[in-house]
Amino acid sequence: MATPRIAIIGGGPAGLIAAEHLSAGGHSVDLYEKMPTPGRKFLMAGRGGLNLTHSEPLPAFLGRYREASDWLGPVIARFDPAGLRAWCEGLDQPTFVGSSGRVFPEAMKASPLLRAWRARLEAQGVVFHLRHDWTGWTADGALAFETPDGQVTAAADATLLALGGASWPRLGSDGGWAEGLRGKGVELVPFSASNCGVEITWSEITRDRFAGTPLKTIALSLGEERIEGELVLARYGLEGGAVYALSGPIRTALENGPLTLTLDLRPHLDADALAAKLAKAKKGQSLSNTLRKAGLSPQAISVLRDAVPDLPRDPQGLAALIKAVPLTVTAQRGLDRAISSAGGIARTAVDEHFMLSALPGVFAAGEMLDWDAPTGGYLLQASFATGLAAARGIEDWLTAAAR
Ligand SMILES: Cc1cc2nc3c(=O)[nH]c(=O)nc-3n(C[C@H](O)[C@H](O)[C@H](O)COP(=O)(O)OP(=O)(O)OC[C@H]3O[C@@H](n4cnc5c(N)ncnc54)[C@H](O)[C@@H]3O)c2cc1C
Repeated sequence: MATPRIAIIGGGPAGLIAAEHLSAGGHSVDLYEKMPTPGRKFLMAGRGGLNLTHSEPLPAFLGRYREASDWLGPVIARFDPAGLRAWCEGLDQPTFVGSSGRVFPEAMKASPLLRAWRARLEAQGVVFHLRHDWTGWTADGALAFETPDGQVTAAADATLLALGGASWPRLGSDGGWAEGLRGKGVELVPFSASNCGVEITWSEITRDRFAGTPLKTIALSLGEERIEGELVLARYGLEGGAVYALSGPIRTALENGPLTLTLDLRPHLDADALAAKLAKAKKGQSLSNTLRKAGLSPQAISVLRDAVPDLPRDPQGLAALIKAVPLTVTAQRGLDRAISSAGGIARTAVDEHFMLSALPGVFAAGEMLDWDAPTGGYLLQASFATGLAAARGIEDWLTAAAR
């Protein structure tokens, strides 16, 4: 075979790391991206601090992928959190472990990392074709793109689709590829929002005075699952790490109608100790003051009053309620502002090298595959690791084709 032509479509972490691996191996790589610049979601991920990965031990780390952990486990073990940190440091972006165990670049933002990365890719010969919106294949099997100059086609011996999921569509990953692939016989799982907020009806006071404020050091439970962390009050309900981590179970439970989350506003104090604190209230002290003295913030008190307007006065009853505030969730927020999406290309649609069984020579990686994980660096880690695994799959495929 003449020099094989490799097309990578999608300039997010999965596509870029694949381009890096393949170009470092001496392959010629063309990278197509529909936006004017690559890595827009990666940049957005860095806005509040780029949480690249997590420092917890690998078995616990892999457990975060739930039912996909046996699928992604070997792939992540090959490019693990330590590997990702070393890679980042290789681009002169040292990392550190935050108090929660999450890993961040010292610069916190994604932009210096992305700049250094793109420069490395260009130096390795990767050709970027920006504003190239991939629309499928022509009748003779070439890749077709819409560009500002009209339709462009390109032939490729191997193609990696790294088109992302369907959340935050204005950043480029809009799931627009799904119908075309389904038409080619690729099995897909419908998209749904993940790592997203939930809708809860608050009183006017909570909405107007406390939207945007945090509920720090809480625990949130659904059934047996309990997550310690933080929440942020929103006019429409709740956002924040603790509710994101329950996205999967919430989605499943909502199929049967509204559900009740249980909020523990004092997770590190048992009910008896809390009741003892509440019992110390002076005669004539207002209930709000008593609750504040028991360590509840004004917004936590407002949430408590919304959940149970007629609060019990006895310390035991009140303590039990503070440790199990019932919150009725009516819906999850949509894909527009979800951090990630679940669904996409079914696990059964790809082989162990991430090649689509229905389309030999076409590989897929990153968030467009059907796996899901909480925030904490797990999304980026899996996007990187699957991008690399698919790049290795492409190398093997091309080697076999050349024989
Ligand atoms: C607000 C926010 C915060 C986040 N924070 C974190 C975090 O802190 N830690 C973490 O681990 N993850 C975080 N994520 C998630 C993380 O950014 C994604 O999981 C990751 O970017 C997915 O990588 P990817 O390469 O698979 O896809 P993407 O990064 O989505 O890249 C896909 C690319 O494909 C392009 N594309 C799509 N369709 C076409 C087409 N038809 N033709 C050409 N190009 C196309 C898109 O424009 C895009 O550039 C966050 C996400 C958001 C939205």
